[in-house]
Parts: sequence; C-alpha cells; structure tokens
Amino acid sequence: MAVETSEPRVPRVLDPVALRADFPILRQAVHGRPLTYLDSAATSQKPQVVIDAVADYYRDYNANVHRGIYQIAEQATAAYEAARAQVARFINAPHSREVVFARNATEAINLVAYSWGRRNIGRGDQIILTEMEHHANLVPWQLLVQEVDGDLEFIPITDEGILRLDVFEVLLRLRPKLVAFTHVSNTLGTINPVREMVEMAHAVGALVLVDGAQAVPHSPVDVQALGADFYAFSGHKMLGPMGSGALWARTELLEAMPPFLSGGEMIREVHLRRSEFNDVPWKFEAGTPAVGDAIGLGVATEYLLDVGMDAVRAHERELVAYALDVLPREVPGIELYGPLDPDVRAGVVSFNLPDVHPHDVAQVLDRHGIAVRAGHHCTMPLHERLDLSATVRASFSVYSTTADIDVLVAGLKDVQRVFAG
Ligand code: PMP
Repeated sequence: MAVETSEPRVPRVLDPVALRADFPILRQAVHGRPLTYLDSAATSQKPQVVIDAVADYYRDYNANVHRGIYQIAEQATAAYEAARAQVARFINAPHSREVVFARNATEAINLVAYSWGRRNIGRGDQIILTEMEHHANLVPWQLLVQEVDGDLEFIPITDEGILRLDVFEVLLRLRPKLVAFTHVSNTLGTINPVREMVEMAHAVGALVLVDGAQAVPHSPVDVQALGADFYAFSGHKMLGPMGSGALWARTELLEAMPPFLSGGEMIREVHLRRSEFNDVPWKFEAGTPAVGDAIGLGVATEYLLDVGMDAVRAHERELVAYALDVLPREVPGIELYGPLDPDVRAGVVSFNLPDVHPHDVAQVLDRHGIAVRAGHHCTMPLHERLDLSATVRASFSVYSTTADIDVLVAGLKDVQRVFAG
C-alpha cells in the first residue's frame, strides 16, 4: 500500500531588508540621515511595482472605463475589473461583485451609514460602537443618529486598551440594529476578537460593520471566516495608492441598499423623472472612478500575497514585541499605551515621554530622519478616556526593521538630552 507523504508546510519568513529595495522612497536621506519611516499606520510607502502600475496606466492605456468601444478603453476596463477580483481574492470575498471601490475607509463607512443606515436605522434604534474608534467610524454614526433620533452606545476599554466584552454582552440586551468597531486600533494596536464579537452581535440580530483600515495591511483577513456583514478599508495603508479603498458587503445587503452617490456609471436607464440603477457593485460607484489607483491597489494585493500575509503578521508581531521590550528598558520614564501582549497587538506603539510634548518629540525625531506621528491620531475620545491630550505613535509595515526601532531609541534618548533641565 502506498504511503502518502506530504511536505511539511514551511512558514514563509519575511526579509524586511530585502523588501526595502522595492521601496524607492526609503533610499533617501532626511536632514542628512537615512529616512526612518515609522508612520505606516498613517499611510504606507509604495513598492516600485505599484508605482509602475499606476504610471503604466496613465502612459499606455489611460481611458475611461465601462463605456469606450475602443482598444485602450477595453484594456482599462479589464484592468479595473481585474483589480476588483484581486481585492476580492485578498480578503477572500466569495464574489468580486461584493467589492465596491471607494476612495478610502472613510468613504466606505459613509456609504454604509448613508445607504444602509438611512434606510434601516430609525427613531430609538441603537448602534453600538467602541471607545477606541477612529473618527471615521464614529462621526458618520453620530450624524446618522442625530438625523433619525437614534442612539449610540459604546463598548468601554480596560486601561490596557482591551474591549470589555462583558459590558458588550450587557449592551447587546438593548437589541442594537448595528455593531460597528475597528478590527485593529490605530492608536493602541489592539487586535479585537472580531469573530467572537460578530457571533455575539448576530445572536441578537444586529448587523456588524468592521473597520479594517489597520488590519488588512498587517495580517491575513478572510471576510467569510470573520462573518461580518460590512468590511471597510483603505488602499493607501496597504502599499496601494492614495485614493483607493473598498467596501466589502454580502451581495444581498448590497442589492437591498439604495444608492449612496448618484449620477453617471451607477445607472442602467435614466428618464427625466426617474432612473433605474446598475447592478452591484457599480450601483455604488457613481461617476468616473479612480481607475489607475484601483489598478495600483490590485497590484499591492498581489505584492502582499507574494510576501505572504502570515509572514507579514509574524514579522510585525516580532517588531512590536521588540519595541515593547526595548523602549521601557532604554528610554527612562517612557509611558507606553495599549496591550503589552504582542499576540493581541499589531505593529503600532503609542507612547509619551515625561514632560515633553509629543509634537516636540516628533520635531526632534525628525532631525534624526525619523518620521512618527504626534497628536490624537483621529481618536480624540480614546485619548480623553486615557486622560491624554496627545501621544507619539510609531507604526510598522513590511519594510520596517528592528534597526528602525534602534534608531528610534537613539532619537528618543536625544529628545531627553535636549529637554533635560
Ligand atoms: N479607521 C482606522 C482604524 C484608521 O486608522 C484610519 C486611518 N487613520 C481610518 C479608519 C480612516 O482611513 P482613511 O483616512 O484612509 O479613510
């Protein structure tokens, strides 16, 4: 009898030093020092293949999509729709028609708030959010409930920045219509237990929107396994172009939703007093889309899949573990925010130095060629909850290295020297 043998699956390992060669911007010097880019949560850098894909489109086949009956228009349409399929594959969507291109996560969330929200949320209806939301997943819901006289409730966090699921359980007794929360906190790095929260929400009949802006670039995301109803993300944080992003939603939801923006492209038939709308997803893509950016996003997904999303996650876990270990040892008095367990933490480290304003920290770091973010990172209520006016944030991507963190440590020591006495 033949014995079947299978090769043991060797996990792919990411070599950030090799990958850096793909990112031309990282070759430059800033203030005479090599650029140490630690602001990937704000936007990631772009590999040459993405830059080339956008340039190729404008140089070789720039044309409007879906209408032109000529060679380059057909080529542009095919590339735009191929990008949709690439994005669908990247998040394991069952059909590419469930992927609606948007300018960014903010637009994708607004699409749901205006289209699904205005039709399904009414007077006295509850929406549950969390204390750690980015303004993009907070303000659209504030505007909605103000308009329809609904209510918002918030899942609180622990002091370490973990969602209180025990309180969530209690809030679910309010029978909310929607639960909307971030997959990964852009300030604390907390990775939220999406699958578990989706199951809890679905058990009381609520739909779930997940803000995946900080998750999709950093770990494998499988929308079918997560089980959420809406999943929103930006392209520019996942090595893709600015102006690219997407909303994923189940077909039956998209089909039942009214249009968000209206005009050309999203219609099938227009009469003077009424119109018939296009099929999904085009029903939600009014006007001329950002074709080159969508194509670039498709190429970014291929690049990330080639690297391997498990490898990306393992790499960033290692970086965050290193940062959480070395920063408190090397930088006296540094205060770190967010969970200290790298297993529930993405590659984001927010901190403060005693008696130095975060903007001053960032300014001195800039002299070392280090790019970090200082401020509230569009999470003002979270900062209020932690009793902070601002923080400094270092964040990682595929090209980040432990050497970058060492440069940060040296820079922070210099900040302390500059501000001592
Ligand atoms: N949600 C989260 C968690 C984010 O980090 C961001 C970007 N900082 C957004 C939403 C909004 O992304 P964009 O500005 O690309 O719409």
